[in-house]
Amino acid sequence: MSLRQVYQRPAAELIGCADCGLVQLLPPVPPDAIAECVRCKRPFAAPARGSIDTALALTVTALLLLLPAALLPLMRLTSFGVQRRDWLPSGTEALWNDGYDSLSVVVFLFSIALPFVYLGLMVCVLGGIRFGIDARLGKLFRWTAALRPWVMIEVYLVGCCVAYTRLESVGTVNVGAGGWCLLAATLAAVLASLKLDEQSVWDALPPHQSLSAPKLPISCETCELMIDAAREHSACARCGARIRRRKPDAIRRTLALVIAGYLLYLPANLLPVLSIERFGRDQPSTILGGVHELITAGLWPLAIIVFTASVVVPLIKLFGLSLMLVMTRLRSRRWLVGRTRMYRFIDRIGRWSNIDVFMISILAALLQFGTLTSLRPQPGAMAFAAVVVITMLASRSFDARVMWDAPGSAA
Ligand SMILES: [Zn+2]
Ligand SMILES: [Zn+2]
Repeated sequence: MSLRQVYQRPAAELIGCADCGLVQLLPPVPPDAIAECVRCKRPFAAPARGSIDTALALTVTALLLLLPAALLPLMRLTSFGVQRRDWLPSGTEALWNDGYDSLSVVVFLFSIALPFVYLGLMVCVLGGIRFGIDARLGKLFRWTAALRPWVMIEVYLVGCCVAYTRLESVGTVNVGAGGWCLLAATLAAVLASLKLDEQSVWDALPPHQSLSAPKLPISCETCELMIDAAREHSACARCGARIRRRKPDAIRRTLALVIAGYLLYLPANLLPVLSIERFGRDQPSTILGGVHELITAGLWPLAIIVFTASVVVPLIKLFGLSLMLVMTRLRSRRWLVGRTRMYRFIDRIGRWSNIDVFMISILAALLQFGTLTSLRPQPGAMAFAAVVVITMLASRSFDARVMWDAPGSAA
């Protein structure tokens, strides 16, 4: 069943752009075409993109594969005549035992708990649309969409790959059944999200349009339903979110979080994130030290991935958001389209910085051979995870529409 059968868009539809706030009339879009905002070039969902059946089947597959991925060993490391196994929850346990409780909770949430909750909710929403059950699906999908940036199963998988290559210098590493299931679950989840975009799911949920034609239309920031401005602060008829013209205190909240991000970026990169004890000698290593180790081992592609994700991405986020805050304060009209695109990019890439945090949790679980070779996480890892979470919160709390309002150019 394609979305065209679930919901047929009317000939022309009033749409409020989530990135620049411009309310515009969207003409009928031919199949396989994607309309974009006339002002900021944000792509809107195509009329009949995606298939509920395929997305539902892939999401159910991902959820079913995640169970063995959590219960079976991800990898085995044989070194010094001893074999150690790593399960999905082992990293959380290792961090907890080393006294890094909050880091352990962060890894548990992003790698195990939230992927299960997200996929479970997604199955309920897609199943509900497929079988015509309407009860509270809008509210359920609002929670699902809010969880999406914090579900880091694919980031965890890359963390596993980096850990795998680093462990190869210590002993023989084998991928376990859980590792293959995790790979398959991730592929299924990514394919499901490629098959069906978020806006198409909103389009399939009623009401498709505001019940009465809005005189002064504003759009719900979650599901983009057009509602009359007089109903601001009431609950959205589709997703239940509180209707607001703009995110409250967007500038002040983002500014506070960006400053906190800068303050934590220094200890995150200067303090060691892990230390390896070999034959009684401690070798602390920073984020950049880890990149250097990958280069000396000749693993250039991995070194580039880790350097980009851990060093460059947090800096792009902090500098990018700073630039947006300053230019909004100066009421500048310059590069509005470019800045909006940059905001979209920053909001999407934030989660990838967590590769190193996941890698440390896996190494902390596997590299435990007593005085021969043992790995302990170090305080830098805490600061680093805090930078990732705080910069993600900063980009989430920013509202790109405020940039367009500032020069007084909002339509
Ligand atoms: Zn726009
Ligand atoms: Zn809504």
